[in-house]
Amino acid sequence: MNTTTVTRQIVRIDEDLCNGCGVCVSPCAEGAIQMVDGKAKVIREELCDGAGFCLGVCPTGALAIETREAVPFDHEAVEEHVAERPKTYIAQTCFRCGTDEDHSPLLPVRHDGHSEWVCMRCLPALIHG
Ligand code: SF4
Repeated sequence: MNTTTVTRQIVRIDEDLCNGCGVCVSPCAEGAIQMVDGKAKVIREELCDGAGFCLGVCPTGALAIETREAVPFDHEAVEEHVAERPKTYIAQTCFRCGTDEDHSPLLPVRHDGHSEWVCMRCLPALIHG
């Protein structure tokens, strides 16, 4: 593993705001977020690419992107990590039509006070009513 740090974007989790719901674990395709002692944690910095797909699903606003010194994102480490734990990934579906992420890109949205996933076909109807 490369231990030389760089300045880059990475997910920050506010433990005081985290209620331990675990909703942010599945959206992280890299498996960087796991629940530890009832709180979400970035378990290894090199697994977090700072893309922030987890942010939209958090009901409490505990997740943010910050720019700080961290070890670089490591694709190979992600591949090894994901291969070790393939069954923990839960595929998401559009809350309106049920389309899964193999058939349409899904975006995290807030709707009626809930964090949901919506597909590209349903997104315009959601925006325009
Ligand atoms: S979605 Fe937010 S509140 Fe829920 S476990 Fe993740 S950081 Fe904590």
